[in-house]
Amino acid sequence: MADTLTLDRVRELDADDPLKSLRAAFVLPEGLIYLDGNSLGPASETALAGLDRAAVQEWGQDLIRSWNSAGWFQLPLDLGDRVGRLIGAAPGQVAVTDSTSVNIFKALSAAAGLRPGRNVILAEGSSFPTDLYIAEGFVASQPGLTLRLQGEGERIEDMLGPDVAVVLLNHVNYRSGRLLDMAALTRKIHQAGALTVWDLCHSAGALDVDLDGAGADFAVGCTYKYLNGGPGAPAFVYVAERHQAEARQPLSGWWGHARPFDFATRYEGAPQIARFLCGTQPILSLRALKGALEVWEGVDMAVLRRKSLALTDLFIALVENRCGDHGLDLQTPRDHRARGSQVSFSHPAAWPLVQALIERGVIGDFRAPDVLRFGLTPLYLRFEDVWNAVEMLRDVLDSGVWQEARFTARHAVT
Ligand SMILES: *Cc1c(COP(=O)(O)O)cnc(C)c1O
Repeated sequence: MADTLTLDRVRELDADDPLKSLRAAFVLPEGLIYLDGNSLGPASETALAGLDRAAVQEWGQDLIRSWNSAGWFQLPLDLGDRVGRLIGAAPGQVAVTDSTSVNIFKALSAAAGLRPGRNVILAEGSSFPTDLYIAEGFVASQPGLTLRLQGEGERIEDMLGPDVAVVLLNHVNYRSGRLLDMAALTRKIHQAGALTVWDLCHSAGALDVDLDGAGADFAVGCTYKYLNGGPGAPAFVYVAERHQAEARQPLSGWWGHARPFDFATRYEGAPQIARFLCGTQPILSLRALKGALEVWEGVDMAVLRRKSLALTDLFIALVENRCGDHGLDLQTPRDHRARGSQVSFSHPAAWPLVQALIERGVIGDFRAPDVLRFGLTPLYLRFEDVWNAVEMLRDVLDSGVWQEARFTARHAVT
């Protein structure tokens, strides 16, 4: 790493970057270094064009005809296949629909239904909170079912037993950036007779996910983070083909019906992944996402992963080299096999530090209680951006500017 710690060398990394041309696909404000694409990805020209066309022409002029003429009705499954390519899912197994939270409910319910007689849902205590809140709500709706949480220092694989029906796992931890070994864990969970629900919110579009290869059962994830679908863009749900005929989800709305336009009295689930749809979808958001996914066409996820690791390696090395004596404590694993596409440090003054960085045009975020989190997104970030971000961090720390009163006020969204 030491040889990359000069600006000349960092510029060479940019010159040699096979993904460098993709930055031009994005609308990024001049002078801003955006290290928060793991929370809200930036707009692309194609996403904005899709949104504009959907609003002005398809809605404004073509009106209800657009359900057919613009392919609105097929969007959840069409986009599902496009997302599928990025997460190692063969066509016909992914639907883009609803939110991640809602999809967790559907997936947990479907998975638990495939394991009758087992009464425990197992999840990591460090999961993103909505995963746990939804799991709580789900078990409360099912008499006899309980939620068991992995505690500090425990290993999920040691908590498996004949009573465990489903294991809900965050592929990359939102706070630390720790990446789980999907293939190995899925194998152990299957050996114990349970099924997996993988939450890919911080791995879809961040690294080379291989759901089919890992033998995963169910997965969910959002599209507004690394996939850049836009604020509140619909999430996705994956159901392995082998489970589709048997899996039942409880939100049996008309979009999941085998023949929605028969307007039949009784529900009959669609035979395939369409069963995981519920009701009418936010078409404008889906059209923005469709445009956003155009940027991904032709992106080799192995190349993306290599750049991601190079970006996070550089960030860690520079912070340790430049800011080493300021008490930043690395929370993200150094081992490439256990690292997502973000770098997190804990620091007692994490909140004001992040605010001072934002004021200087370096946008990362704060995660309670004490984490500074930086998302390093390979499609549009340059190695020189990493260099400049760390220079800014060093300046904020050395100058002590973060101690000024204006950086202490908390906002509703962090
Ligand atoms: C961002 C995120 C979510 C978000 O869920 P929504 O329903 O979109 O609000 C869920 N799980 C994880 C792991 C996340 O990182």
